[in-house]
Amino acid sequence: MQITEVKNSAEAIALEDKHGAHNYHPLPVVLSKGEGVFVWDVEGKKYYDFLSAYSAVNQGHCHPKIVGAMTKQAETMMLTSRAFYNDVLGKYEAYATEYFGFDKLLPMNTGAEAVETAIKICRKWAYEKKGIHEAEAQIVVFDNNFHGRTTTIISFSNDETARKNFGPYTPGFIKIPYDNPEALEKVLQENNNIAGVLVEPIQGEAGVYTPSDDFIPQVKQLCNEHEVLFMADEIQTGIARTGALLAVCGKCNCQGHCEQQATYAKPDVLILGKALSGGAYPVSAVLANNEIMDVIQPGQHGSTFGGNPVAGAVAIAALEVVREENLAQNARILGELFRSEMNKYIENSTIVSKVRGRGLLNAIVINDTEDSSTAWDICVALKENGLLAKPTHGNIIRFAPPLVINEEQLLDCVSIITKTLKDFER
Ligand SMILES: *Cc1c(COP(=O)(O)O)cnc(C)c1O
Repeated sequence: MQITEVKNSAEAIALEDKHGAHNYHPLPVVLSKGEGVFVWDVEGKKYYDFLSAYSAVNQGHCHPKIVGAMTKQAETMMLTSRAFYNDVLGKYEAYATEYFGFDKLLPMNTGAEAVETAIKICRKWAYEKKGIHEAEAQIVVFDNNFHGRTTTIISFSNDETARKNFGPYTPGFIKIPYDNPEALEKVLQENNNIAGVLVEPIQGEAGVYTPSDDFIPQVKQLCNEHEVLFMADEIQTGIARTGALLAVCGKCNCQGHCEQQATYAKPDVLILGKALSGGAYPVSAVLANNEIMDVIQPGQHGSTFGGNPVAGAVAIAALEVVREENLAQNARILGELFRSEMNKYIENSTIVSKVRGRGLLNAIVINDTEDSSTAWDICVALKENGLLAKPTHGNIIRFAPPLVINEEQLLDCVSIITKTLKDFER
């Protein structure tokens, strides 16, 4: 048995195509190295990364502090399983719960697992604390949501590609329009079996669909009034991406530490993943206070790798970097600059109809039909010009660089993007 040498991008792509399942449609670029905001392909060409692995790499590629914590821990102890205690998990849980302001944390690995965990906690809470009859709990979700790819999660997706032929679907979800508090109020009034509301503060995969400023605070208020759990999926929006520690922090930059702020809608259940490890390792978590988290008892939920020492060490380092390097503030300031520069371009553009987003989670909407390949073609051209981005649903391109980007680099990227777009103007 020989391991195939990969000599160039074409060979790497051909190998994946032949031997790997075709569950993704990547841009034709093969990356082999990353540092900060940059990545390099096999041929040595350098790119700005404007996807950041869907906002997992907020702290930048191969951040030395995170790599250091990871290798040190990897040389000492990698996995114990939860059959035994390890000397990192408690330290991580203490740090992260204080950091985000919750009593307890339940550690998992991937984002979808954390969402599944939140759903289980919510249902159990509904039966044991709220008094809903067994197996009758409903969870409210929103049109065009993205919460992952497990069987239960795709059951309440309305992305046909993600759903079709994967049924039978898991029942117990009610889907309503996003950014529409009246629809939420109506469903809460009409139904006594609602256990929770699962919401993305900004819908990333749907195309960085940014709701009105008061939507999330209204969701929280309605949840409080109707005694249902407000569950925020901040896997993509959290950890400084939108210019605050969490997107539910709204416009204030208190990093979640000022509950008196009218804009801070503290969730009952907070779901994190992606940048919780700075992209180094699969680390996800659900945070909640005791009266909610304590419904979970031994044997009722778990994961072999969840809470392993490497994950704990990596997550502590990744969260420290966010504070030490003021990433939320950087995202807020450079995000405003990015949108204002893009708006200057859009004024005279026929190909881009708008830019939207918050902090450094932004998207441009391409002025073409949803099924056209324009957004994809623009991303291919951006790649040729040294910047990597990917279309999301519809004709929308997401721009989400690592949050360690500086002003000079950001302006350089704006010029690459506008120069590329000019070739597509009609
Ligand atoms: C990426 C993402 C998930 C799923 O995370 P995985 O680690 O891919 O399972 C869930 N919710 C949101 C909002 C996401 O962006």
